[in-house]
Amino acid sequence: MSSPPAEHDHAEAPPPVVEEVGPGIFAYVQLDGSWGLNNCGFVVGGSAVTVIDTCFTERRTRDFVAAIGGVSALPLRTLINTHHHGDHTHGNYLLPAATIIGHERCRDEVLSSGHIASALFPGVAWGDLEVAPPFVTFTDDLTVFSDDLRIELQFMGPAHTTNDIVAWLPERRLLFAGDLVFNGGTPFVVMGSVAGSLAALERIRALGPETVVPGHGAVCSGDAIDAQAAYLRFVQDVARPGFEAGTPPLELATATDLGDFADLLDPERIVGNLYRAYSELRGEPLGAPIDPQAFADMITYNGGQPLRCLA
Ligand SMILES: [Zn+2]
Repeated sequence: MSSPPAEHDHAEAPPPVVEEVGPGIFAYVQLDGSWGLNNCGFVVGGSAVTVIDTCFTERRTRDFVAAIGGVSALPLRTLINTHHHGDHTHGNYLLPAATIIGHERCRDEVLSSGHIASALFPGVAWGDLEVAPPFVTFTDDLTVFSDDLRIELQFMGPAHTTNDIVAWLPERRLLFAGDLVFNGGTPFVVMGSVAGSLAALERIRALGPETVVPGHGAVCSGDAIDAQAAYLRFVQDVARPGFEAGTPPLELATATDLGDFADLLDPERIVGNLYRAYSELRGEPLGAPIDPQAFADMITYNGGQPLRCLA
């Protein structure tokens, strides 16, 4: 007898897996890591669990919470948000006893954007989402302890967004990178900064991580940093002559051969990334608000079809 498929069962997306990445430290990996299929994490201490990020939909977060329960029955006391995007924060409300920690701009963005992602991804079974922003915030650095294990939260934005933080466990040389690293997916910086992302990757490189839990895609080593940086430099290299010629970002994206990057998931992100590169070439502040046409143009690049989302 087989049970009926879960709402989020897509033939192309395997079930999420719990992967132990260090003693008592776990990644919750949702492949294939495309739009909305993010990674989370959790650290099991002696009396409580520290959680990193939640999921896009109610159903996926409930499954994540159940998966934590399969490892530890301890209370989920602390929740860290790496940035405001819905695939990392929509499920916050399902950890009602947790202190939710994030960058101060993460709180602002969660409150102002709510469930805006639902407009970009019609057809996703969201469930009954409630907005639950971080309510302990910081601007630069904050250290959280799981017993005596240090979890260093470092602000790295603007990069993927205006409010990215990473969780660095120096004693384990382990990094929860949030969406500063997409393993196998196209980096996406339309809401952040191309130059800022490159700077953040250099800071990550200087930390010297042996294990990286990316925001999307399989757990990897620090070598993943090079692939991210190569793509972002490609965006800058493509953008400059296009900007100088006055070519609109969509037109430039359509005419661009992605080369080795064509195999990355969600290639339409090139359009949004070029919008951001143009903003920086105009000298606008890193992370400044972007023309919302960037999102409509990604759909146009995608043949006018809604963006592929398996959440
Ligand atoms: Zn994100």
